[in-house]
Amino acid sequence: MDYDIVIIGSGAGGGAMALSLAGTGARILILERGERLPREPQNNDPEAVFVERRYRAHERWQDGEGRAFTPGQYHFVGGHTKFYGTAMFRLREQDFEAVEHEDGLSPAWPIRYADLEPFYAEAEQLFHVHGHAGVDPSEPPRSSAYAFPPVLHEPLIGELALKLQALGLNPFHMPSAIDLREGGPCLRCGTCDAFPCAVQAKGDAEKCLVDPALRHPNVTLQTGSEVTRLVTDERGHRIVAAEVLHKGERQTVRAPLFVLSAGAINSALLLLRSATPRHPNGLANTSGCVGRHFMNHNTTCLMGMLPLTVNDTRFTKTLALNDFYLGAADERVPLGNVQMLGNIQEPMVRSAMPRMPRWAGRMLSRHSVDWLVMSEDLPHPQSTVRPLAGGGVELNWHRTNMATHHRFVSRTKGLLKRIGFSAILSRPFGIDTPSHQCGTVRMGDDPAHSVLDRWCRSHDHPNLFVVDASHFPSSGALNPALTIVAQGLRVGRHIRETT
Ligand SMILES: Cc1cc2nc3c(=O)[nH]c(=O)nc-3n(C[C@H](O)[C@H](O)[C@H](O)COP(=O)(O)OP(=O)(O)OC[C@H]3O[C@@H](n4cnc5c(N)ncnc54)[C@H](O)[C@@H]3O)c2cc1C
Repeated sequence: MDYDIVIIGSGAGGGAMALSLAGTGARILILERGERLPREPQNNDPEAVFVERRYRAHERWQDGEGRAFTPGQYHFVGGHTKFYGTAMFRLREQDFEAVEHEDGLSPAWPIRYADLEPFYAEAEQLFHVHGHAGVDPSEPPRSSAYAFPPVLHEPLIGELALKLQALGLNPFHMPSAIDLREGGPCLRCGTCDAFPCAVQAKGDAEKCLVDPALRHPNVTLQTGSEVTRLVTDERGHRIVAAEVLHKGERQTVRAPLFVLSAGAINSALLLLRSATPRHPNGLANTSGCVGRHFMNHNTTCLMGMLPLTVNDTRFTKTLALNDFYLGAADERVPLGNVQMLGNIQEPMVRSAMPRMPRWAGRMLSRHSVDWLVMSEDLPHPQSTVRPLAGGGVELNWHRTNMATHHRFVSRTKGLLKRIGFSAILSRPFGIDTPSHQCGTVRMGDDPAHSVLDRWCRSHDHPNLFVVDASHFPSSGALNPALTIVAQGLRVGRHIRETT
């Protein structure tokens, strides 16, 4: 099979590349390991999604100590955005600069916020992001307002916002990719974060990127197609083919241009698994950085208890706080972001704490308001992902900035107490939740210390681009999806203009 461009993966990065390149008329093939996620009653059933883990990939990985775990990985058209919580943040201007943290330096990107700004604006349009600019004190400059009004707080969340304001803080409406336009499909069913959307109201990569790309006759999507290896020419210079396992059969797909968008962990694994005698450390890996600098935000879930109040909010994810993003009067280092989590329901409590009686889980769920505290993880060279013999995967997450994160969690708990929560339960997310995975195929201007150039092109192989969360030189402390899409649109335009 011959194409002009082969895109591996149909998530935020791959989808953005497909849409951006669709109008060129080039013959584009998207190879996606998963299938289309079926629309079925289980989509928003917490028992099916959390207890039975109906949609999770059936994979067992191991951590750096050899302990096995099942990662929160999903393989469907649209990638992880099928399950994401629709928070669509731009990184801050400072996130593109070198910033000192407690455990070291968060490195500068080879591009600045201004380079990405027009593409952030385009990405927000594509995903129908609802938001309200001008309240969040850490917000970067924007060339245009949000096209859609913010998702308004329901009564309880509105009261909490007022109480936070009374403390002198600046809670703001969280930018959200949810289709709440007049006549739009959103039912405010309350199952957004970690669930696929049963009515396609969530702006995910399948709906906002892949399907629009497929309306062009030159774009083809082949599902059930796992790329197992990339193949180079004899000199080892250019990528000439992808070996694919398609529904049990082996295929070879050839093209002059390849875009790898398999997600931060899987893109690194594919490059490492494509090692040859000429490239014993894997493809694109002269720097030795492929599979290194794995980052995943430091995140902790807080359940704020209101024993006398029933939390009947349907769509909770309307509020966020960035007052401490860059630090605080008594903190010299950045702390991060606080945002609402989706509603935690009893089966979700049970899946995390199987010994808890159901009545207790139901009580927690009815009387809690759920928050996510998120802070930056730094790119440590010993934070690695690597393939193991026999098809296994080792994810050795060397966590950083945990002392900062713990202080930030304590500070947030203190705030929540001041606005009326009687008790706050907390649970950090661990290695089995690599939701915000990034950094494993990093971009940079120096080929000795990075894999990709500032256009996400491999320093080693001129016809290979890697466009997904793996290119992040640092993680910032905000949700990554909008940045991945914006980068895809930027790189797509670069390819259109230069090839
Ligand atoms: C529960 C959850 C909630 C989240 N909430 C938010 C949020 O609110 N806001 C936010 O910004 N981010 C959120 N995220 C993170 C966000 O979804 C991801 O950062 C983003 O979707 C990653 O996009 P990607 O293109 O890097 O990779 P992916 O989404 O992982 O896409 C990669 C695609 O490649 C396919 N693939 C993998 N290997 C191969 C192969 N060998 N051959 C062919 N295909 C392959 C995969 O099946 C997948 O479809 C959340 C994630 C999760 C899991």
